[in-house]
Amino acid sequence: MSHAVINPATEQEIRTVELTSAEETDAAIARAEAALPAWRDVAPGDRARLLRRFADAVDADIENLARLEVANSGHTIGNARWEAGNVRDVLHYYAAAPERLTGKQIPVPGGVNVTFAEPLGVVGVIVPWNFPMPIAGWGFAPALAAGNTVVLKPAELTPLTALRLAELAREAGIPEDVFQVLPGKGSVVGQRFVEHPAVRKVVFTGSTEVGKQIMAGCAAQVKRVTLELGGKNANIVFADADLERAAATAPYGVFDNAGQDCCARSRILVQASVYDRFLELLEPAVKGVVVGDPGQEATEMGPLISAEHRQRVASYLPDDTPVAFRGSAPEGPGFWFPPTVVTPSSASDPLLTEEVFGPIVAVVPFADEAEAVAMANDTAYGLSGSIWTSDVGRALRVSRGVEAGNLSVNSHASVRYWTPFGGFKQSGLGRELGPDAVEAFTETKNVFISTEGS
Ligand code: NDP
Repeated sequence: MSHAVINPATEQEIRTVELTSAEETDAAIARAEAALPAWRDVAPGDRARLLRRFADAVDADIENLARLEVANSGHTIGNARWEAGNVRDVLHYYAAAPERLTGKQIPVPGGVNVTFAEPLGVVGVIVPWNFPMPIAGWGFAPALAAGNTVVLKPAELTPLTALRLAELAREAGIPEDVFQVLPGKGSVVGQRFVEHPAVRKVVFTGSTEVGKQIMAGCAAQVKRVTLELGGKNANIVFADADLERAAATAPYGVFDNAGQDCCARSRILVQASVYDRFLELLEPAVKGVVVGDPGQEATEMGPLISAEHRQRVASYLPDDTPVAFRGSAPEGPGFWFPPTVVTPSSASDPLLTEEVFGPIVAVVPFADEAEAVAMANDTAYGLSGSIWTSDVGRALRVSRGVEAGNLSVNSHASVRYWTPFGGFKQSGLGRELGPDAVEAFTETKNVFISTEGS
């Protein structure tokens, strides 16, 4: 079976990709298992060197990878270059890990006690369509660095950059069976990662609904799992904030990648005393977002990923929705959707509770700090958020009060490869990136060596 890969900005077919069957997935997992002993035994410095070579190969291919992502996912060329660069940087960062996977020597009577950080085995990485390159790298780079072999399933809609990354890994000298990319369906390839006993860990990014199924499936084998799931993130704007900056940046905190971002700040909570002024400032900022051909340097927002997804996003705007104002979007072919600002009045409105995953933002007022924190936390999710204030004490109080894994003050930055990333509550389990992520790809083994004479 094959899948026609579509350019979401033109609706043209780019090429077809063969879908991996369940039997082929099992065969790939068996090869990954067979490749494990040799990969685990590669000297730490050599494994590090191979990962650095892989990073260099990605670096040399950035423009090609970025253009592939523009065509396959409709990402703006600026974002796509950043995403390819992120894979390079994540590989370089975790290339420093193999020689640093130290254990501990723990004092015990009658001998020596040491711990080892052992690789888990075969790791299955399941990637969504919203950030095909970075999310793949956040899984495979630390997994490979820790001595695991990797099978990776890109989203059916967006396999092209992952397939290219597999080629680059091979060019860099990483053995073919150590890192395999298996394009295919979640219900086939992803499901085998969950069920196959040789896969010892599943790294999943995607919807909370599928994440729960994966976690339940993995429980049958006590399989390790990392989950990066949805978000309904709050951008909290206090009256004492630099309102001009808060309003000018808010569109980019939610409409980046057309809102198809688990970190999208899709709820803007504004202190009531400045609510009207904030909306006045927000309107020109939203109307100024440049939506169009993602391959053009000046474009700030591209299309949605598919016709089906556009329909899903549009379903959040029934006729009686209080739309405050909208930006622009091209007419004609492509899955376009204009940036849209809504002002729902009920806290249970799906626009305030569900992850829309499109360029729609809800703006609502709050009275005081306590109410802002309560509203920010009134969600099953807890991934990210922003706090705009000029009061450093408030910034810290609210940061500690909001139940989310990644917060930024007077900024919308969420992801740096050297800081931990992940969610509270139903936004996920475990952390990716940062100095500790490699540990999530190892088991601690404790060994006691007796020094008693025989
Ligand atoms: P999914 O969670 O369905 O897909 C994410 C990945 O999981 C894809 O690779 C998918 O494969 C795979 N998958 C799907 N079902 C299974 C399964 N039973 N077992 C193993 N793997 C599986 O997300 P959707 O693409 O359907 O998006 C739906 C919504 O989810 C979005 O609108 C958004 O709200 C949210 N989402 C959140 C993301 C995030 O970053 N947190 C990312 C993507 C989506 P396949 O290629 O076949 O779809």
